[in-house]
Amino acid sequence: MQTQILERMESDVRTYSRSFPVVFTKAKNARLTDEDGREYIDFLAGAGTLNYGHNNSHIKQALLEYLAEDNIIHGLDFWTAAKRDYLEALEEVILKPRGLDYKVQFPGPTGTNAVEAAIRLARNAKGRHNIVTFTNGFHGVTMGALATTGNRKFREATGGVPTVGGSFMPFDGYLGDGADTLDYFEKLLGDKSGGLDIPAGVIVETVQGEGGINVAGLDWLKRLEGICRAHDILLIVDDIQAGCGRTGKFFSFEHADVVPDIVTNSKSLSGLGLPFSQVLVRPELDIWKPGQYNGTFRGFALAFTTAAAAIRQYWSDDTFERDVQRKGRVVAERFQKIAAWLTENGVPATERGRGLMRGIDVGSGDIADKITTQAFENGLVIETSGQDGEVVKCLCPLTIPDEDLLKGLDILEESTRQALS
Ligand SMILES: *Cc1c(COP(=O)(O)O)cnc(C)c1O
Repeated sequence: MQTQILERMESDVRTYSRSFPVVFTKAKNARLTDEDGREYIDFLAGAGTLNYGHNNSHIKQALLEYLAEDNIIHGLDFWTAAKRDYLEALEEVILKPRGLDYKVQFPGPTGTNAVEAAIRLARNAKGRHNIVTFTNGFHGVTMGALATTGNRKFREATGGVPTVGGSFMPFDGYLGDGADTLDYFEKLLGDKSGGLDIPAGVIVETVQGEGGINVAGLDWLKRLEGICRAHDILLIVDDIQAGCGRTGKFFSFEHADVVPDIVTNSKSLSGLGLPFSQVLVRPELDIWKPGQYNGTFRGFALAFTTAAAAIRQYWSDDTFERDVQRKGRVVAERFQKIAAWLTENGVPATERGRGLMRGIDVGSGDIADKITTQAFENGLVIETSGQDGEVVKCLCPLTIPDEDLLKGLDILEESTRQALS
């Protein structure tokens, strides 16, 4: 495999090619193929971007038909038939059945663009600068979003420019079992000398992806919503990774029965891995003036087309979400078994997650790395997350066939034993 030019020319900032140093060529659903023809099962799925699998045939067909007919590909933020069709699918299939009423902003195509837009809108709507965020939260790495991202590696990479505008509160579970971390947030809000600037909004992941598959309890989320309402603070759910079905519901907050004021989506939103993001906003909060937040690539017609196809194909009834929940239980059971084996063998480990967003916390980045490196040798692409990379994380395509799911789990189990021997 020829990798010289890749090693020589691509910036040292590259990341995933260090964990998986092969040249990938083809991919279908949950399988990746490298240039030597070797196949891998994919439990990373573009870090949660490929919920419907690589090259999903149905979604790709919609794209091919769209391309074949000289339909508009780039149109700034023009009205296009593709945009109209996407909004119809979003409203009819996703929002209405869930009793949700949002306007939709299309910022630039990446997740961090959506977070920037969301927190800026919250600030303007409330006339306050502060955004409360949570320990281990990850919301992107552009300056505004970075102020709400906990990870020091990213925060220290600004060249000394301070990251301002975010206040960190302890996420659910941060202080161990038995402590409700929202007691602290609520106390600060009521304490005139607590030092917390009353925030415009709170941004939260219901399951922290990059932060280590930390799962917010449903009661905790409901209480957070109540605190926000009581103090006139906007609730922003960053559903960039946990959304689009990953936790077993289209929106991850559906489990907790909360209704955010603002929602960000990206990653799997286009359904095919195309860059695409959106901000959902309660209609009365849409106080933008025309063009006040702009960008050249706002709403990508190809992504509108694939996103609409994905929504109609998978979300018109509850068959898909029930299947995701079933597969989530399969992964949970096997992860519990692996965690128990690790614990018996001197590595205290625990399993956690919601739906098909699951991880095994092995307590150490070194051990997690050994397991994932061994797994890659055995034909499984799987990554770690958490502050020290201590959580082996499964983000397989939601469409993964049972056979591949079980094979991937077998490889992980076997690799764990090998890594510890
Ligand atoms: C990936 C991610 C982002 C950032 O998205 P980018 O497209 O990488 O900018 C923001 N929030 C969450 C929860 C994410 O998982």
